[in-house]
Amino acid sequence: MLGVHLENGIVEVRDIPRPVRPRGHALIRLLAAGICNTDLELQRGYYGFCGTPGHEFVGDVVEADEFRLLGARVVGEINLACEVCDWCRRAMQRHCPHRTVLGIVKHPGAFQELFTLPERNLHILPDDVSTQSAVFTEPLAAACEILEQIRIPCGSRIAVLGDGKLGLLIVQVLRASGYPVSHYGKHASKLAVSQRAGATTHIGEPPAASFDWIVEATGSSAGLDAAIRMVRPRGTIFLKSTVHDRANLDAASVIVNEISLIGSRCGRFEPALELLRLGAVEVLPLISATFPLAEAARAFEHASQRGTLKVLLEG
Ligand SMILES: [Zn+2]
Ligand SMILES: [Zn+2]
Repeated sequence: MLGVHLENGIVEVRDIPRPVRPRGHALIRLLAAGICNTDLELQRGYYGFCGTPGHEFVGDVVEADEFRLLGARVVGEINLACEVCDWCRRAMQRHCPHRTVLGIVKHPGAFQELFTLPERNLHILPDDVSTQSAVFTEPLAAACEILEQIRIPCGSRIAVLGDGKLGLLIVQVLRASGYPVSHYGKHASKLAVSQRAGATTHIGEPPAASFDWIVEATGSSAGLDAAIRMVRPRGTIFLKSTVHDRANLDAASVIVNEISLIGSRCGRFEPALELLRLGAVEVLPLISATFPLAEAARAFEHASQRGTLKVLLEG
């Protein structure tokens, strides 16, 4: 069967052996998968990755222990927790120190014709959510995580920095919950998606000390600096960009202005699936291109070009 192999920055499609399904795991046939910034960072050498990437997927279950999953169209949570440590017992599986992560840390990813994932990680998709939309479940869940971490008083205006894929999803999630949103980005065509969701959009630098709530999703280490400049004293900044170089942080401003910095990563799938089912977020305009799995190398190349939004691989 076909599978993507990533090693030393080179993406290749190889003929690889069919995976063996461990007990409690489902064997899943890929329908569609999304290439995300994390995949591009793996290609750049982050985590010293070698193997099959891919963690945003929709697939059909072809083998499983649980009868209800057989033949079902599913999405899956990406963290494989040990289920026995203190963190897991406190329902913090996403922070299990022994976890592996689909397509990122020690568990082969979804960019292959068949792959495995624990059955407890899977969510059966409602019929009225299309496969292309459902590819966005994982990043949408990451966007929803903001609202699970802290209660933002209703009516509070929130600034979102960055008009990449995640920024566009975050704006829509916040709008779906009724918050007024100011979206700062660089591309009028991308900001149009936020405008349709009812956000006010701006190109260029935001004014200093202008917001109590800021979500930093620029994907660059400079974004945090901008967020610290534009937050008001006692304000809160959510850090959504996974930046691997050490941030050059204006610590004095954070301390003197008593700013709260909240790191934010993956989220639960349930709220994301509900938003997709209700059609409360628009994800299809975020797809820039679709490639067959066999052309994964071209797909990665396309995804790494500036201004590209989501690139999908189809199984
Ligand atoms: Zn991702
Ligand atoms: Zn654990």
